[in-house]
Amino acid sequence: MSTSPIETVVVDGLGLAKEIREDLARRITTHAGAGRRAPCLAVVLVGDDPASASYIKGKQRACGRIGMDSVEHRFPETTGEKELLDLVDQLNRDSGVDGILIQLPLPAGVRANVVTATLAPEKDVDGLSPVNQGRLLLGESGHRACTPLGVMKILEHHAIPLEGARAVVIGRSALVGKPVSLLLQHAHATVTMCHSRTRDLPGTCREADVLVAAVGVPRLVKRDWVKPGAAVIDVGVSEVDGHLVGDVDTEGMHGVARIVTPHRRGVGPMTVTMLLSNTLDAYEARLGG
Ligand code: NAP
Repeated sequence: MSTSPIETVVVDGLGLAKEIREDLARRITTHAGAGRRAPCLAVVLVGDDPASASYIKGKQRACGRIGMDSVEHRFPETTGEKELLDLVDQLNRDSGVDGILIQLPLPAGVRANVVTATLAPEKDVDGLSPVNQGRLLLGESGHRACTPLGVMKILEHHAIPLEGARAVVIGRSALVGKPVSLLLQHAHATVTMCHSRTRDLPGTCREADVLVAAVGVPRLVKRDWVKPGAAVIDVGVSEVDGHLVGDVDTEGMHGVARIVTPHRRGVGPMTVTMLLSNTLDAYEARLGG
């Protein structure tokens, strides 16, 4: 019996991000028309890591493009924890600030978990504070981490069935692996979380209807790790010989995967878009409150 070849869709994460951002911009225009101030994201950058500075710049540019204000708080590498905690306290109480983003990593000597733990949960638009992570675990409403939320939006946009599906997530970080596993579980997938100690990773991946790779190992996921018709989401970003590559051998997915996200213009633009979306939600919740 011959089976027809699978036509693999390469996800246009940038296109989907643009669509969502247009909708966010329309919501902000409506608020402006009603005489309300623009929503505002406060971004906190400590030290001079060029990658962090570039991420912050991109996020602020994205805010500006949809009519959202952003205020930058930049500190030198030598900044102490107390100074950051004081700033978070001030931003938590500032009625003109709707969302707070603390760009990670923070310098050695500043405990990121201590700082994020002091964020007001309703302003923690990155969804990384213990309260919001706990709310996710409990299935309660709260801001969800941006990359996992972006992954779910991509699956939803491509109408990937999740109820009863086998999902395999490679990676168990608090930033991506754990929250995306929980979101998939809340969507009624049966989820397996893999990590560096997993035995027979290829065999486990071959069982997946939905495979999410959030590892940081270049092209770890090979063609023969993927079940025909699976949705493959590549979160990973690594640098090889000056080029960015993902966790998935994207080319190898053609004719096997139902959808695959490219390592550029895939999950990345959705992460920033979910930050904007969470900030606008926070603003609207404050209007209603
Ligand atoms: P992380 O904290 O370093 O976690 C990596 C995870 O991968 C860990 O759970 C680790 O297992 C697991 N792992 C490492 N090597 C493995 C292997 N050979 N086989 C199976 N599992 C392995 O990284 P992260 O913050 O979750 O980020 C993951 C990747 O996503 C990175 O490349 C990051 O740059 C990227 N990222 C992209 C976006 C975006 O917007 N596109 C956003 C966030 C992150 P153990 O727990 O056992 O150590």
